[in-house]
Amino acid sequence: MPIRSQPFGRTAAGQAVELYTLTNAAGIEARVCTYGGTLVALLLPDRAGARADVLHGFDTLDGYLGPHPYFGALIGRYGNRIARGRFTLDGVNYQLATNNGPNHLHGGPGGFHTALWRAEPADDSLTLSYVSPDGEEGYPGTLQARVTYRLSEAGELRIDYEATTDRPTILNLTNHAYFNLAGDGDILDHELRLDAPHYLPVDETQIPTGELAPVAGTPFDFTTPTAIGARINADDEQLRIASGGYDHCWAFAHGGDLATPVAFVREPRSGRTLELFTTQPGVQFYTANFLDGSIRGKGGRAYQKHSAFCLETQHFPDSPNQPAFPSTVLRPGEVYRHTTIFRFGAE
Ligand code: BGC
Repeated sequence: MPIRSQPFGRTAAGQAVELYTLTNAAGIEARVCTYGGTLVALLLPDRAGARADVLHGFDTLDGYLGPHPYFGALIGRYGNRIARGRFTLDGVNYQLATNNGPNHLHGGPGGFHTALWRAEPADDSLTLSYVSPDGEEGYPGTLQARVTYRLSEAGELRIDYEATTDRPTILNLTNHAYFNLAGDGDILDHELRLDAPHYLPVDETQIPTGELAPVAGTPFDFTTPTAIGARINADDEQLRIASGGYDHCWAFAHGGDLATPVAFVREPRSGRTLELFTTQPGVQFYTANFLDGSIRGKGGRAYQKHSAFCLETQHFPDSPNQPAFPSTVLRPGEVYRHTTIFRFGAE
């Protein structure tokens, strides 16, 4: 079905922002705006066919223009944290903004979530592109980034990421959608399976210690389907550091291919399901621990702690400072390519 577009408002600088709507015959509807390349809404039928918007966010552009915790946004250049905002590449030291305690988070205050992306709509997909100038937010290299959102008749929302650089740089792109498959309430009854035998414990500032810790015997074991809330209040040092919940990176058993799902989420009341596929080696599973009801989103709703979950597919946090982690370096002549697929259903 063809993509529709409508004006979504203007940025503070007066630039026009468009909202694109992708639909499929099964009644799924995804809306993406050019500001931040943000996934603004996702309407999914439940097992009886009733649709609900399963994403946190705002009804109008204004909400996205103000500070918010990255609802639905594209994250770059580096999703997640870099310790003290520092890294060294080819002997050159770089200092990025420290916007999360002592650390750098999600590309800095002027990251890709604040960029105005150029849109090229096609039949079943929307390609967004953005040229990030050399030195933007402290990162080296002019980066040409392209992200394509595609909705299939099989209920797959596919996000393809592609980028090139003219100088050596680091890159870790993701999307920061906050899901609640019931459309309301908390996500503690959602069942999660994560095909990840290890997770990355963090220090007090949420930087990985470097260890890939086995999940077996811990509240981090989702290798069999388990309610998200089953152990979220367990007496556990790592859950405490994350402010009472999950906010950690899991390392997949079989990263890198799109044939096998790496995660499955099921909301028992509506029957809505989400299956995750990705070329990335890990995922930040975050249970919205820092939401406290102070943000009013769609329909005036106050978003509470544990009212949503994020599955941010990515390379591991702080990789530029952790030589044992898979590399996030991108060099001229190379093409950064990653794909994440969310396959939705109802059962
Ligand atoms: C981080 C959280 C943070 C959230 C919103 C997640 O990716 O891991 O710590 O609060 O993004 O900024």
